[in-house]
Amino acid sequence: MNQHRSKELYTKASSLLPGGVNSPVRAFQAVGGTPLFIARGEGAYLVDVDGNKFIDYLCSWGPLILGHAHQEVVEIASQVLRLGSSFGAPSPWEVDLAQLIVDALPSVEMVRMVNSGTEAVMSAVRLARAYTARDLVVKFAGGYHGHSDGLIVQGGSGIATLGITTRPGIPQAIAETTLTLPYNDLEAVEQVFRDYGERIAAVIVEPIAGNMGVVPPRPGFLEGLRKLTREAGALLIFDEVITGFRVSYGGAQALYGVLPDLTCLGKIIGGGFPVGAFGGPREIMRLVAPLGPVYQAGTLSGNPVAMACGVTTLRILRDRNPYDRLEELGARLAEGLQEAAEEAGVPVTVNRVGSMLTLFFTEGPVENFDDANRSDKQRFSRFFWAMLERGVYIPPSQFEAWFVSLAHTEEEIDRTVEAAREALRHAG
Ligand code: PMP
Repeated sequence: MNQHRSKELYTKASSLLPGGVNSPVRAFQAVGGTPLFIARGEGAYLVDVDGNKFIDYLCSWGPLILGHAHQEVVEIASQVLRLGSSFGAPSPWEVDLAQLIVDALPSVEMVRMVNSGTEAVMSAVRLARAYTARDLVVKFAGGYHGHSDGLIVQGGSGIATLGITTRPGIPQAIAETTLTLPYNDLEAVEQVFRDYGERIAAVIVEPIAGNMGVVPPRPGFLEGLRKLTREAGALLIFDEVITGFRVSYGGAQALYGVLPDLTCLGKIIGGGFPVGAFGGPREIMRLVAPLGPVYQAGTLSGNPVAMACGVTTLRILRDRNPYDRLEELGARLAEGLQEAAEEAGVPVTVNRVGSMLTLFFTEGPVENFDDANRSDKQRFSRFFWAMLERGVYIPPSQFEAWFVSLAHTEEEIDRTVEAAREALRHAG
């Protein structure tokens, strides 16, 4: 694969940006080699600056459920941009997006728009602390909730990918407000409530983990979290930054029928533009400034282009209800990968919910971060490059989700499985 231009750009970028990137996993450190610089996206494909074309399973880490440069999204973005890029005052699109979110998510009555998933979670946690007048937050190892101080403790995503175990820059006093437990371990949650019950403000969870690779909740896990938090007077926060509008139109909460107190959103609701949101019942949201004293603000929050692209994306999802289609495509890919691995004699576990999945290089089952971490990372790296060589771009880390979009068709899925068959045979 010719990487001439990417290599040139990476050399220059490395002298200007730490690691040559603006978000760590993009640097390919876990898989080695030079990251590809992308020139453009077309539906299910990415094209790099050297003209290599890949079937894309990154989908910008989840937002692009309609695929790259979807015509209706491009049109609305251009149309709104001609009216101005930001007003710093309310505009109609944010009301439309809020309405769509409130209509879709059974637990949300009011919502505040922010600019990223990190901000959404950071603000939701502040709100939970204010509402309960308690300090401690329970999270799960391998869960990623953005990079705010208290929440990167034992984080997934890039923190797991880079194997970062220390937390320089985070005061001890802040780190101590986070209690970390193994995902899917309800007994550990019961124990933590016995030990700290009256001090716990919230349990925050990815209802389907996506940042240790995809790890679905065990039956009863989310229901158990709901019961334990309610009994203890703590809030349950679902971080649906990935799962919102991905696993069903109503997110994981609609899929599993478990309603959190607060929900964090991002990714899909911005149609590919920077966005985040948090929401919940009026009773809690009324504490947010200016209604209440919990301060939260943003110069570019509710940005009209991001809002309009979010509205367009959600309307398409609502009106076309493509979730059976995404399930079909996801299942076809997962089954194909599983068969290809069996043929090659490579032990793997494929975890999937709808259109998000991870191929773990371990026998499994993978139900928490320790299980995921038993994966053969060197084998993953070889597989990653063998797939790139065959025109398929998967996330450059074992601890991430692959995303299938509505721009993918059976043809792309089958070509991917064929590439995996060869890649596993040669690089397995
Ligand atoms: N929560 C979850 C579940 C995420 O997957 C992510 C990002 N991948 C975040 C929060 C942070 O979102 P952002 O990168 O937009 O800050």
